[in-house]
Amino acid sequence: TEEKSLHFIEQIIEENLSNGFSSDKLRFRFPPEPNGYLHIGHAKSICLQFGLGLRYNAPVNLRFDDTNPAKEEQEYVDAIKEDLQWLGFHWDEERYASDYFQQLYDWAVLMIKKGVAYVDSQSSEAIAIQKGTPTQAGVDGPFRNRSIAENLALFEGMKNGDFPEGTHVLRAKIDMSSKNMLLRDPLMYRILHRHHHRTANDWKIYPMYDFAHGESDYIEQISHSICTLEFVMHKELYNWFLDQIYDSNKVRPHQYEFARLNLNYTVMSKRKLLQLVQDKIVTGWDDPRMPTISGLRRRGYTAHSIRKFCDIIGVAKRENVIDYSLLEFCLREDLNKNAPRVMAVLDPIKVVITNYPEDKEEFLDAENNPEDSTAGFRKLPFSRELYLEREDFLEQAPAKFFRLSLGNEVRLKNAYIIKAESISKDSQGNITEIQVSYDTDSLSGSGSEASKRKVAGTLHWVSIKHAIKAEVRLYDRLFTDEAPDTHKEKNFLDFINQNSLQTVVGYLEPSLNTAQLGDQFQFQRLGYFAIDKDSNSSELVFNKTVGLKDAWEE
Ligand code: ATP
Ligand code: MG
Ligand code: MG
Repeated sequence: TEEKSLHFIEQIIEENLSNGFSSDKLRFRFPPEPNGYLHIGHAKSICLQFGLGLRYNAPVNLRFDDTNPAKEEQEYVDAIKEDLQWLGFHWDEERYASDYFQQLYDWAVLMIKKGVAYVDSQSSEAIAIQKGTPTQAGVDGPFRNRSIAENLALFEGMKNGDFPEGTHVLRAKIDMSSKNMLLRDPLMYRILHRHHHRTANDWKIYPMYDFAHGESDYIEQISHSICTLEFVMHKELYNWFLDQIYDSNKVRPHQYEFARLNLNYTVMSKRKLLQLVQDKIVTGWDDPRMPTISGLRRRGYTAHSIRKFCDIIGVAKRENVIDYSLLEFCLREDLNKNAPRVMAVLDPIKVVITNYPEDKEEFLDAENNPEDSTAGFRKLPFSRELYLEREDFLEQAPAKFFRLSLGNEVRLKNAYIIKAESISKDSQGNITEIQVSYDTDSLSGSGSEASKRKVAGTLHWVSIKHAIKAEVRLYDRLFTDEAPDTHKEKNFLDFINQNSLQTVVGYLEPSLNTAQLGDQFQFQRLGYFAIDKDSNSSELVFNKTVGLKDAWEE
């Protein structure tokens, strides 16, 4: 494999190393908030952070950024770990911002003592007004010059739960006229009388992201703290908080920002994904239509294809929107190599081979995967009555119709050439049965002259007597709009595709009887399909993962 050129973060690291930064001090982290499941956007960040870990043989921590008890749950922690493992990455240490609550509190007290933090007892509305606007400086509030002693006493009271929510906050005392609005005395702590999934009711105050994040990086001695571009303006604050506690014997973390992943025809904020779940627009976080890692996995996406996708899109400093079809391309490429081929009919029409004996059955050889010479062959039962796909037959063939029509021949994949002789219809004129004859000498692979005969098309089929029934779920996009959450007057929920799920009964070749959760197949000419977790011992359920680009040509 050829070496790709370095992306800008690798270039920064190379430069740091050549300027004397010791490679054994490199340390990275992936810092999800456990307030939802991971989505394909997170995969980009994961591949970046863990990719750096692998490239530089450096540890990557998994840090749960669990500073908001109102939204965080153990279920999400578990799901995040499962998804990371499934993606194929190994974290060094499992850390929690909540493990640092005492240390963060102690630093906050230190900052009060230094005179760079104070308790503000105004309403959040009053605080917001005093912040000013980007073009107008803020003004100092009435509590900005509280004495250190009073601040210490109030902050301790906040910690002890003496005050109701919303009555006081701790703010950093920076600069109410800073050009960067985030530096206009940002909040460090708020009062929340909430149960936390790890610290239970120990804490009545919780640190804000900007304070907790950088200090957590420092505690873990993260050398390169990589985040998405929305945090560019936060960097100044990140550095200000570090300045308050930094000890020059230690590694000082630096923040770097890259462009987040945007994909068309979907939404990627956890808040919006949660709404889809709560409003029951989807069946759960792992619904196969969701852009979550667990949804993609259930749909049939492979970890390899997601990593490959992240590799192709690369790491850059400018935001753009990636076409969903690129993700599907990466998947198809993987499945084409690895998914065994089978036959299934999803919209059946009955075919009777009138010159094939009624009590006869044959077991024909079928190649499992032409892309994989080690995949071998299986036996496929053939008999007098078959199902074909309804759309593969037309009474009168238009020009260039390479399927079956009256008086014309096609090849049945792995089997014989048949010719349509006559049809039966019901009282409404719907075709109920096609009567065909077969060329007894034309068996695929038999080497006979007739087996080499060129006919216009090759169709998939199943033997009715041997077929197994399964539920097959066919998916379309969840949203009808390319960018559902970018409209001014409309909400992303206004663009839900009402026909994103269609459930049909499929008839499958009997080799699928032994298929298990995790197995993936190409249903020939139809697409790739994966076994769904809703399967049980009496019925298999399949998800259509992705269509084929092209039907096979033979
Ligand atoms: P969301 O808006 O979906 O809730 P978030 O950034 O709040 O996302 P976190 O759990 O904080 O979610 O994200 C963990 C890491 O994943 C962060 O470093 C974040 O920058 C990164 N990340 C989140 N979404 C994307 C994305 N679309 N593309 C790249 N990285 C992302
Ligand atoms: Mg976040
Ligand atoms: Mg978020």
